[in-house]
Order: sequence, then structure tokens, then C-alpha cells
Amino acid sequence: MKGLRALVTAGPTHEPIDPVRFIANRSSGKQGYAIARGLQKQGAQVILVSGPTNLADPAGMTVIHVETAREMLAAVESSLPVDVAVFCAAVVDWRVKTESAGKIKKVEGAPPPVLKLVPNPDILATISQRTKDRPRLCVGFAAETDNVIENARKKRLAKGCDWILANDVSPGTGTFGGDTNQVHLITAAGVEDWMTLNKDEVGDRLAGRIKDAVAAMPTGSAR
Ligand code: C5P
Repeated sequence: MKGLRALVTAGPTHEPIDPVRFIANRSSGKQGYAIARGLQKQGAQVILVSGPTNLADPAGMTVIHVETAREMLAAVESSLPVDVAVFCAAVVDWRVKTESAGKIKKVEGAPPPVLKLVPNPDILATISQRTKDRPRLCVGFAAETDNVIENARKKRLAKGCDWILANDVSPGTGTFGGDTNQVHLITAAGVEDWMTLNKDEVGDRLAGRIKDAVAAMPTGSAR
């Protein structure tokens, strides 16, 4: 992938409630970082847009650190054009409508505060549906607990991306924060079930598939 630009989103987002509290999720960022390293091994110039994680920045790539979904979208948009984009981040779906400027006080005897939530931008869908500067290959993830394949197929069409990597995140699978992942690659051509692999191996394998797909694109579309 020499000369090609690849963008990866990774990790959770943090959506502030007030200066000390936020909404987040259990994403560790491990899978996204492994994909970024895999694409780098294939020779791509990689931009990693990462939410807050405990991971060290991988060497030799541009790492942009963000907190919120809106910051992540802005960082992605300002990194375009890229040839390939993999949206691995577990973006928090909602944020509070109005972040409190001061710490929300717990008042003895008063009812707890009610948080009004509003939807966050869908980064994968926004970029996949762009007409200008759409990456040649857009890859999303679908973390599901039920009807994994069917829901992921629908998601591929609804978001307008080219591929979806679907994974089962039911309790007990250990996907969140763990070192292994069992995924299914869903493309326009069908579904491929991958065996349980180390997250690094999933990253390398996906990067290899991306390299082949981009090399086979005659005029710029993988769809
Ligand atoms: O809709 P759902 O969250 O299940 O979709 C998962 C896919 O969409 C992942 O690829 C994730 O990175 C992406 N996504 C996003 N922005 C959001 C929500 C999800 O990019 N606000």
C-alpha cells in the first residue's frame, strides 16, 4: 500500500456531562490500534484518530487524540482525502444536550438530575455517504449481541459502507478489553466467518484484505 493513505478510528468517545463526569463505554481501542499497525505493515501512511485509551501511540504514524464524537468527526474530516478508512471506534451514541459548566451538585433530599440526551453524529455513515472525497474503501464494525450476521448486513446497507466486520459482544465473549476477537467479514459478495484470532491477527488479516481489494480496484470503487 505504498503511497496510499489509510485512516482508522479507534477507542471509545467520552461525552461530558459536567467538568468531572462523562458518558463512555468499555472499548479499549486494542482492535483499532492493531488495524492501524496492520495497515502500516502493508506500507500505508496511517492516520489514527483515537478516543481516550490507555494505549501508547504506535510509532511512525500520525495519531490524533480526541475525546468526543464531534471532535472525532472533525478530525476525520480534516484528514481527508484518504484511500481507505476503517471505523473501529465505539462512538458513544448520545451526548447530553447541554454540558453543565460547573459540577452538578448532589442536593440532599432533592431528586436526581434528569439528563436530556441528543444523538451524536454517525461518523461512519457521514463519511461513507459523502460525494466529495469519499474514501475508496469504507469499512465499519458492528458489535452485536443478537442476529449478528443479519443485523450487520442491514447495517452495511444503512450506513453506505463497503464492508462490515461483525462481532459478537455477548457477555462472556470477552471481546471488550480482551485480546481476541471472532469476526465475520460482510461484503457485497457475502459473508466470511473468521476463526477466533488475536486482535493483532485480525488487524493483519483485515489489512491484507484491504491491500488486495484496493489493488484490484480499476477506477476507484470497491463496491
Ligand atoms: O450503529 P453502530 O454503532 O452499531 O455502528 C457501528 C459502526 O459505526 C462502527 O464502525 C462505528 O465505528 C461506527 N459509528 C460511527 N459513529 C457513530 C456510531 C457508530 O462512526 N456515532
